[in-house]
Amino acid sequence: MVGGGIAGVAAAREGRRRGHDVVLFEPSGLASGASADGAGMVRSCGVDDLERALALRTLRIVADDPAFRRVGGVLAADDPAQLSAWGRPAPLPVELQPLAAARWGLLAPDDGVLDVQRWCDAASSGIPVRGERVAASDVSKRGRVILALGAWTTSWAAEIGLVRRLQPRRRHLLHIERGPALRDDLAWCWDLGRGAYLRSGSAGAVASACDVLDAAHLPPRGEGAVEPAHVQTVVDAFPGLSTGDFGRSRWGLRSFTATGAPWAGPDPDRDGWWWFCGFGGFGASCAPGAAEVLWDRVEGRRVHDLDVSRLDVLGTQGSAARG
Ligand SMILES: Cc1cc2nc3c(=O)[nH]c(=O)nc-3n(C[C@H](O)[C@H](O)[C@H](O)COP(=O)(O)OP(=O)(O)OC[C@H]3O[C@@H](n4cnc5c(N)ncnc54)[C@H](O)[C@@H]3O)c2cc1C
Repeated sequence: MVGGGIAGVAAAREGRRRGHDVVLFEPSGLASGASADGAGMVRSCGVDDLERALALRTLRIVADDPAFRRVGGVLAADDPAQLSAWGRPAPLPVELQPLAAARWGLLAPDDGVLDVQRWCDAASSGIPVRGERVAASDVSKRGRVILALGAWTTSWAAEIGLVRRLQPRRRHLLHIERGPALRDDLAWCWDLGRGAYLRSGSAGAVASACDVLDAAHLPPRGEGAVEPAHVQTVVDAFPGLSTGDFGRSRWGLRSFTATGAPWAGPDPDRDGWWWFCGFGGFGASCAPGAAEVLWDRVEGRRVHDLDVSRLDVLGTQGSAARG
C-alpha cells in the first residue's frame, strides 16, 4: 500500500482483516496529507447514490469507534425547495438556529465527525508501516501495489508511465476559537446556498468556505493568513460566528477524478497495479466503505449493492487521459 492517508490506511486495514499480507509505505506519518487537513465530517446525506452507498458502509464501519462522534449532520438552505430533491426538509434544529443563517435543514442523524488521525492510528494497528518515501521506479513488485497517494498519486504513477489525471482542488479550513454557541455534540451544518460549513469540536470549530480553485500549481498543503473573503462567506452562513477569532487558515488538496467518483479498481493496462484515490471532498465519508469494495474486487467477489463500473473511471477514461 503506497500512501498512509485515510484511503491507504482503510485499504490496508481491510486487506489485513481479510487475511492478506499488507505492508504500508508512508514517509510523513499516518494521515499527514489531505487527511490531516480535512474536517472529518462523515456525510451520507445529499450526495449521489454511489457516494451515499459508500458513506453508509463507512458509517457501519466506524459507528462504534471511539474516533467517531455521531452528532448528526444538517444540509441547510433558505428555501426548503432546495432540499426537497434529497428528502423532507425540516426547520433547522434549535441548537443550530442561533448560529446559522439558513432556516431549513435536512437532518441525517447517523452522520457525524471522524477524528481521522485517531482512526488511522488505531486502524493501522498490527500492520507493518514503513516510513519510507517510495519511488515508483524502485518498486520491485511482488503481489499487488495499491496506489493511495491522494494528491501525489498522479505524479508518482507518472514516473513509471501510469499516466492518469486527478484534478486537485483547494479547500481552506478556518480554525475558530471555541465560543459559547459551540458544543462538542453540535451537529455539523453545511449551508448549500452560501457554500460554507461548520463543524464543532473540542479544539474549537472549523469552518470552510467552498474554494474550487484549480490548484495543480500549488504544493499539496499549506497554511497562511486568513483570507477576508473566506471569513465573510463563513459569517454570512453562520452569523453566530461573527465575533469568533479566525486564528489561522490551512488548506489542502482534494483530488477529484473526471467523473467525481473515486477510483477503486485495477489499472487497465498494468497487471497487479491498483488505484485507490480520487476521493475529492469525501475521503473521510467514503474511503473506509470503499476499501471493502476494493478488496471484494481484488478477491473477485461480486459487489451487489452498487454499480462498480463507476469505480472504474480509469478503465473507461484511462486511455483518453493519457499524456
Ligand atoms: C480542507 C479540507 C476539508 C475536508 N473536509 C472533509 C470532510 O469533512 N469530510 C470528508 O469526507 N472529506 C473531507 N475532505 C477530503 C478528505 O480529507 C480527503 O478526501 C482525504 O483525506 C483523502 O485521503 P487520501 O488518503 O486519498 O489522501 P492523503 O490523506 O493526502 O494521503 C496520501 C498520502 O500519501 C503519502 N505519500 C506521498 N508521497 C508518497 C510516497 N512517495 N510514498 C509513500 N507515500 C507517499 C502522503 O504523505 C499522504 O499521507 C477535506 C479535504 C480538505 C483539504
